[in-house]
Amino acid sequence: MTSDDLERQSVTLLQELIRFDTVNPPGNERAAIEHLERYLSEAGFDTEILAAEPERPNLVATLDGQGDGPVLVLLGHVDTVLADASEWRHDPWSGDEADGFIWGRGALDMKNQVATEAVAAASLAGQGWRPASGALKLVFVADEETGGDVGAHWLTDTHPDKVRCDFLLNEGAGEVFEYGGRRRYGVCCGEKGIFRFNVTALGTAGHASMPRLGDNALLKLAPVLNALAHQPESFDLTEAPAAMLRVLGEDPGDLSAAMMHIEAEEPRLRTLVEPMLGVTLTPTMASASSKMNVIPSRAQVRIDCRVPPGLGEDAVWRRIHQVLGEPTDQLRIDFTEQVVGNSSSPESVMMTAIE
Ligand SMILES: [Zn+2]
Repeated sequence: MTSDDLERQSVTLLQELIRFDTVNPPGNERAAIEHLERYLSEAGFDTEILAAEPERPNLVATLDGQGDGPVLVLLGHVDTVLADASEWRHDPWSGDEADGFIWGRGALDMKNQVATEAVAAASLAGQGWRPASGALKLVFVADEETGGDVGAHWLTDTHPDKVRCDFLLNEGAGEVFEYGGRRRYGVCCGEKGIFRFNVTALGTAGHASMPRLGDNALLKLAPVLNALAHQPESFDLTEAPAAMLRVLGEDPGDLSAAMMHIEAEEPRLRTLVEPMLGVTLTPTMASASSKMNVIPSRAQVRIDCRVPPGLGEDAVWRRIHQVLGEPTDQLRIDFTEQVVGNSSSPESVMMTAIE
């Protein structure tokens, strides 16, 4: 099969998938999943449909090799976010091809990848190709956009043996960018954790007409916001960003210099790369008095904090101390979310294949 044939087949399958309305909620992914099941079983895959809810099934399609070996999963979801047809030039479920583009909700996230993976794997399988050992699995799931309770979460909780794997390729990353005169493709092998917290200032309420009467909690947030606006540089370098810097020709041993160099070459890239190198503290919401004429006894700013994979509360506190100093009786810090990010090593057989 020529690459033109593969492209044409991928476009056709993408258009077919777009025409199934799988907006989640409610999802209703059954028809799309069954369509993929037919397509892959005709190509020689062993297929299995597994569902927590009848209208929202998941597909596991397996091509076994001879004997034990590593299992590679290509993971995709067939549900999409909402679409308001009145805001679209082409119907979001038409799959129309116009001006060299395929139109439709899910064309980018991520029926395109599902279609191309299915076509690539089916064409290999149809030609009689089998993995030398282990297995290739295509796992296409429902319910990614709203948390995976009947999709990936349910599948791994309920049927771990059917989806256990050594390597897994999912959506995200892969965007092309230019650096140092060369085309580069990003590979995402980790995700930062989230440690959101509130900074609460305490004071004494009073009437706004007599400012000295109370102890205005809102004013105590001024130095906090000022410190957040002028954060000193600080890094917590982890394995994946270090590998990326090396590939870009930068020295992970001197991150300040690397950032300055990237900034000089391509300022937009610094904006993307710098947050990968450490804990970020970003104030996003604030509140104080609920009445115009009342001096607040309490004022709060909420901080969206992201932490390199593998690092936890210790790293967050180090950064808080550095930027905001010690909490006090009048200035409290409380975490509202704590999730440690996870990552895979950027050195693996799969990474070598991707390179
Ligand atoms: Zn997606």
